Amino acid sequence: MTTQAYFRPRSLAEALGLLDEHGPAMLVMAGGTLAMPLINKGVSRPEKVMGLRQAGLDYVRPVDGGVYIGAAAPLSRVRAESGVPLLAEAVKNVAGWAVQNIATAGGNLFAPPPAGDLAVALLALDAQVKLASLKRGERLVPLAEFFTGFLTNCLDPDELLVEIQVPKPAGKSVLLKYGRLYTNTPAIVSVAVRVVTENGRAKDVRIALSAVGPHPFRARQAEAALTGSSLDSSAIAAAASAAAAECEPHTDPIASAEYRRRMTGVFVQRALAQVAA
Ligand SMILES: Cc1cc2nc3c(=O)[nH]c(=O)nc-3n(C[C@H](O)[C@H](O)[C@H](O)COP(=O)(O)OP(=O)(O)OC[C@H]3O[C@@H](n4cnc5c(N)ncnc54)[C@H](O)[C@@H]3O)c2cc1C
Repeated sequence: MTTQAYFRPRSLAEALGLLDEHGPAMLVMAGGTLAMPLINKGVSRPEKVMGLRQAGLDYVRPVDGGVYIGAAAPLSRVRAESGVPLLAEAVKNVAGWAVQNIATAGGNLFAPPPAGDLAVALLALDAQVKLASLKRGERLVPLAEFFTGFLTNCLDPDELLVEIQVPKPAGKSVLLKYGRLYTNTPAIVSVAVRVVTENGRAKDVRIALSAVGPHPFRARQAEAALTGSSLDSSAIAAAASAAAAECEPHTDPIASAEYRRRMTGVFVQRALAQVAA
């Protein structure tokens, strides 16, 4: 079956209506950097396609010190306009300019590992995603609960991801991506950490990882190991080793699972040391 119809909704309401009408037979396409190669290779053969480019979801809107990002906002716009340094740093590490200009923030949340460089920053920032359907309206889901497994998430078949909400960032944050090259390289591991301190002790800790599990995730045991500490080197070492223990890396042509696990410990340690400095 080749594609029979291409829809280009001019509003979110129209997009939700089309999704309701055509159901799972219709592929949602944002930037197409992931979807088009699969179609070109014949791996994916959608009967119908809906492009999101003109649905009014390409905004990046500062709100109360945080930012609301439309699902179809190009990554380059997030980099330039979010006003959140951790997000700009995350996008800087995604492929090169050509991909950043086309790929969208929402689409990046559907990319399989080792992709997920934006998600790792969003997890550290306590972002939420807004999901919407024509019949059931909108719901907000913490990004940490959005991912459910390898290429699976909590989006229902009649729902679109419409917005990413990032609250005003508190504390100090660092993002480190480690790949085989300095730029334009898939991750061996991506780490984003954010620590809020009170009276010299870590009060709120976020340690998010990508490329070392079936989806981007928060390393909860590592966060617990650091919480309440004075960010001394032994607490940082304990958190780094907890992160290495709780990740679930895979082997691919980029790196072995064992190497990914070791580098997870190394890069969590480096990121936390930078936060503590
Ligand atoms: C050369 C190259 C290098 C790359 N390097 C990196 C990298 O270093 N780091 C990294 O993190 N990523 C990397 N990527 C992955 C890239 O970031 C993703 O391909 C991109 O973010 C996907 O966004 P898109 O808008 O193109 O998605 P699309 O291809 O349009 O869609 C991808 C999937 O998401 C679904 N989808 C998209 N938007 C929505 C929505 N709003 N609601 C519901 N479903 C939706 C689609 O149905 C489809 O299944 C690279 C990709 C390429 C091609």
